[in-house]
Amino acid sequence: RGLPAISVRPEEGRFLQFLAAACGARLALEIGTLGGYSGVCIARGLAPGGRLITLELEPAHAAVAREHFTLAGLDPVVELRVGDAHSLLPDLARIGPFDFIFIDAEKEGYLAYLDWSLDNLRPGGLLAAHNAFRRGAVLELDADDPRVVATQRFNQSLAQDPRLISSVFPGGDGIALAVLR
Ligand code: SAH
Ligand code: MG
Repeated sequence: RGLPAISVRPEEGRFLQFLAAACGARLALEIGTLGGYSGVCIARGLAPGGRLITLELEPAHAAVAREHFTLAGLDPVVELRVGDAHSLLPDLARIGPFDFIFIDAEKEGYLAYLDWSLDNLRPGGLLAAHNAFRRGAVLELDADDPRVVATQRFNQSLAQDPRLISSVFPGGDGIALAVLR
């Protein structure tokens, strides 16, 4: 279907489902839908009656994701919004607070997504962010790839913010994790 092969891996998908279930999520948000693979996993972990809102910039990706949500029987659960997440988030503040937020869009946006999440997660809510490792590139202290630098800064913020208890799931490309105190 012409989509890049950058979905989370099966073990990461299962872990996302596990996390959503573990925090009893009823209202979840995903930033970066692609073809809907991680979204299906998160939606399957929600409490009965739960809802996932997922944001995608590319209409072509969103069209494929819509088909997958339908095939998975998740039309009543998943709401897909198309556009730049940075423009879509302000409106979502009125729907929140969210129990679970998964960040997996452009890496340069992660710090802004973190700021928004800190204001829009419920206390005890869970934040997860994909590609914490960037295939090991985060260890290069002199990195100049802006995506790597952004990921390093994001990981550092997560680790140092006193409002958060953070950790990392070391499967796949790494999922940075935080619970809001
Ligand atoms: N979470 C998906 C993979 C997401 S790949 C999965 O594991 O199945 C990253 C996606 O983020 C791409 O589809 C890309 O188009 C989208 N994206 C990039 N920048 C974005 C932005 N500013 N707002 C919303 N989506 C964005
Ligand atoms: Mg990713």
